[in-house]
Amino acid sequence: MTNKRRILIVGGGTAGWLTAAYLAKALRLPERSHLEITVLESPDISSVGVGEGTFPTIRSTLQFLGIDEAQFIRATSATMKQGIRFVDWAHAPTAGRQHQFFHPFEAPFYADGINLVPYWLLQDEADRPPFAEAMTLQYRVAQAQRAPKRAGEAPYAAPLNYAYHFDAIKLARLLADRARELGVRHVEGTVNHVALDTAGAIAHLDSVQQGRQERHQADLYIDCTGFRAELIGGALASPFKSVRGQLFADRALACKLPFESPDTPMESCTIATAHEAGWLWEIGLNGARGIGCVYSSSHLSDDRAAEILRAYCGAGRDEALAMRSIPFAPGYREQQWLKNCVAVGLSAGFLEPLESTGLVLIEAAVGMIAEMLPHSGPMEAPARRFNELMTARFDNIVGFLKLHYCLSQRTEPFWRDNADPATIPARLAELLAQWRLRPPGRFDFVLDTETFAFFNYQYILYGMGFQTDLSAGREDFTQVDEAAKLFAKIQRFADRALVDLPSHRALIQQINMTA
Ligand code: FAD
Repeated sequence: MTNKRRILIVGGGTAGWLTAAYLAKALRLPERSHLEITVLESPDISSVGVGEGTFPTIRSTLQFLGIDEAQFIRATSATMKQGIRFVDWAHAPTAGRQHQFFHPFEAPFYADGINLVPYWLLQDEADRPPFAEAMTLQYRVAQAQRAPKRAGEAPYAAPLNYAYHFDAIKLARLLADRARELGVRHVEGTVNHVALDTAGAIAHLDSVQQGRQERHQADLYIDCTGFRAELIGGALASPFKSVRGQLFADRALACKLPFESPDTPMESCTIATAHEAGWLWEIGLNGARGIGCVYSSSHLSDDRAAEILRAYCGAGRDEALAMRSIPFAPGYREQQWLKNCVAVGLSAGFLEPLESTGLVLIEAAVGMIAEMLPHSGPMEAPARRFNELMTARFDNIVGFLKLHYCLSQRTEPFWRDNADPATIPARLAELLAQWRLRPPGRFDFVLDTETFAFFNYQYILYGMGFQTDLSAGREDFTQVDEAAKLFAKIQRFADRALVDLPSHRALIQQINMTA
């Protein structure tokens, strides 16, 4: 028996391979002969393979892994994402008119020590531009389907904050290649037995591949088996905490469509359109549009969801449209690290596709594991801390997602149920009461457990038409003229950006041509 330290990652979806590549890099696997990282992947169980939108943190993760940006864009059919355009969330369309607002990745413009948010709030509602348009040039850049950067700009850097849309299956393949380059072992097999020791930790597990049994032993087992949660749920029975009482969506119907023509303008944001009992995503990839209908099965039948998706896609009643149904249970495990097993990805939890938090939660988990995994000795203390931080992170995301639903004025039962105070997390309700009298600020949140910052909340609140009444403190905001100059400056920057930045499609085409 060698004294190698072994990490066994079970599952080869995005979570499995991102975890493998990240740990290999962070723990300097190629230089450490006493460390072994293995991915055990079932060739017979497919991965979820959705997850086409992500968060700006992915740029630093990919850079850390040593993956070239152009190579990533080409290999995963990626495009750039500058935020999310929300359509019909605040109100249902009236007389064909849609209500829209934008949640950009850029923080509100800040200069000369002036926080512009109160000055926007104090403007006359009828005369002021939408919040995101007033606060950042990114609104107009995304509206004009421009890219956030020019060709030739440094990889992963840009004047405007951005993330990507990509094909999740292709991303898992790219990450697998990088993990293997970094020294990760890859074994095929389906786990069919997990043995526990007397302390309730995993003693070993068995896999089967083409009738051949193999036994695997490790110091740390990472469960990346997706919704099956074979180790953390199946073997260790870590309880699953449902949040269906707050977030009602539990199903998605997904499809892919070609662009109408090769030069159809390509959005550089996700489009999220509300419907009677949920919402639809639309994501432009290089070569296809990914479209999905997210809904609550308690409020909408599968047939009606299919009808909504077909109508959105413009498909005729008899036209074939290949749809994939993906049921999910919104929730997570409070004990994601239990004994010698830690869950990463869908096995740890999943809330819903809104705001694309799947990958960012994987990044958060794996970053913590890399730092917190002890070189030797018991794992109880790091596990406890990990669970505290991940639980808080999941809870905070529940609140942020709920914000999108509970502020809506829509009248369908799904939306009215969402506005029922009994379904609003207590912490969010408390903050909403405070935000009636002041905008969200940085002290509302503890950074290490947050995925979204105070300004993300501002974009959703004021995009949805939430009222913060600052009139009692109007006299405290004396820099009205300076603020007006800054608002004008943002628009001048936007004018300039529209001239300087290429169209999103042109940039993506150029990157794909320079192979
Ligand atoms: P999976 O992709 O399901 O992979 C599981 C792996 O485990 C597979 O390789 C499988 O073969 C293996 N496996 C399973 N059982 C066994 C076994 N017994 N033995 C061996 N191997 C096994 N995230 C985002 O960031 N942005 C989005 O826009 C987004 N949209 C989403 C939309 C929907 C409808 C859903 C459901 C999810 C979405 N997500 C999104 C989440 C995202 O898809 C996942 O976080 C991500 O793909 C990671 O999945 P995973 O690797 O945990 O699981």
